[in-house]
Amino acid sequence: MEKSIIYHKKKKEIAKIHNKIQRSRRDRLHKLSNEMTNKYDYIFVEDIDLIALSKNNKLKNATKDNGYGEFVKMLEYKAKEKGTVVKRIDRWYPSSKRCHVCGNVIDRLDIGVKEWMCPACRTLLNRDINAAINIKEEGLKKHTVD
Ligand SMILES: [Zn+2]
Repeated sequence: MEKSIIYHKKKKEIAKIHNKIQRSRRDRLHKLSNEMTNKYDYIFVEDIDLIALSKNNKLKNATKDNGYGEFVKMLEYKAKEKGTVVKRIDRWYPSSKRCHVCGNVIDRLDIGVKEWMCPACRTLLNRDINAAINIKEEGLKKHTVD
């Protein structure tokens, strides 16, 4: 077979695989957003600056492919249909750097750090769990103010 024919055939195959991956990712996002909007009355999400994140070399690929923005949009329109409240938490809210126990906010927390000790109250915090608790508290606070 001629080289250019093989090239075009491979290109087509690769495009097919890409489409398949995209479809299955979208299906997964639909399924997850359906489950969440069925199960919960309130959903709080971080309003992440995806453009800024995509400029960060370490996070570039993670944010390009994970479909977070698309997922949040799915959550929002499905929530509207079901009477679920979806709130975006301000992107500047320090969910990771704030100790959920005492409210102390540290100046800096590097991306690779999974656990840290609050210098004020000496609590050992898991980065993701601590951030999730802060997001929930912030979401509930904002919800009652609105
Ligand atoms: Zn603390």
